[in-house]
Amino acid sequence: MTNEELDNFIEAGKIAGRIREESKSLIMVDEPLLDIAETIEKMIYDEGVQPAFPVNISINDNAAHYTPEFECALTLGENDVVKIDLGVAIEGAISDTAYTIDLSGKNENLVKASSEALDAALLAIKPGVGVGEIGGIIEDKIKSYGFKPISNLTGHMIKSNDLHAGVSVPNVRGTGDSYTFKVGDIFAIEPFATNGRGQVEDSEQVEIFSIHSAQPIRMRQSRQILQHVIEKYGVLPFAERWVRREFKSKLLVSAALKEMLEAGVLRGYPVLKEQAGSLVAQFEHTILIEENGARVLSK
Ligand code: MN
Ligand code: MN
Repeated sequence: MTNEELDNFIEAGKIAGRIREESKSLIMVDEPLLDIAETIEKMIYDEGVQPAFPVNISINDNAAHYTPEFECALTLGENDVVKIDLGVAIEGAISDTAYTIDLSGKNENLVKASSEALDAALLAIKPGVGVGEIGGIIEDKIKSYGFKPISNLTGHMIKSNDLHAGVSVPNVRGTGDSYTFKVGDIFAIEPFATNGRGQVEDSEQVEIFSIHSAQPIRMRQSRQILQHVIEKYGVLPFAERWVRREFKSKLLVSAALKEMLEAGVLRGYPVLKEQAGSLVAQFEHTILIEENGARVLSK
């Protein structure tokens, strides 16, 4: 990584950390999800940088990858466990961070399980430590509160323009890559705690997409949308909601996205669901591995 890239990672982290804190005041009962997402995305653009992906607002048994639809009318409910996951990109340098707010105050321990698991993982990470060891630390902390870690969601290495750059950091013991942390690496660590089964599944709903590979596409509207998202978002994930803002017609946009998904031009990120009726908490920070340990960039 060049010095300039590293500076961008550090700056992206500062901005993400600031917006992470400022955005917490938006998370209130009756607040429209659409307003929350668009306000946070505007906060990011107002810093002169780009969202690394659409703001995720995943509630209760939704673990990840939900972002409001174009005309979403949902509002936050008084019993919602709300996960806000946001990212900032500066010339491909990405900072990825998340927090959970428990609006009822009845799920304090679930929130603590995830947040303390993150703290424990960050304390343990240093050069030479295997990514797999971190899974055990996260699992033990979450289980000490009587909850389960979600085993098929992981932390991840980050490289320029690559949010999930190959190496995973598991949230459970005995899995993961054989990789050991090295000075200069960037990682996102994100323990998920749940009172559900400890595993997510893809739902039918897809709101977030990214460019995957170049393939011929037939519809004119698809080609126009493809051109637009390449120019505006490059390889970064985008929301159907963002495309609707430019191309208005719900029918045409959804037909075009469907064609491009089926052709393999786009990949979709389905909303990831835990057991129906369960609750999920998530905390995430982006870190830089230094000689002495993990330096949290996103705070
Ligand atoms: Mn994230
Ligand atoms: Mn992440």
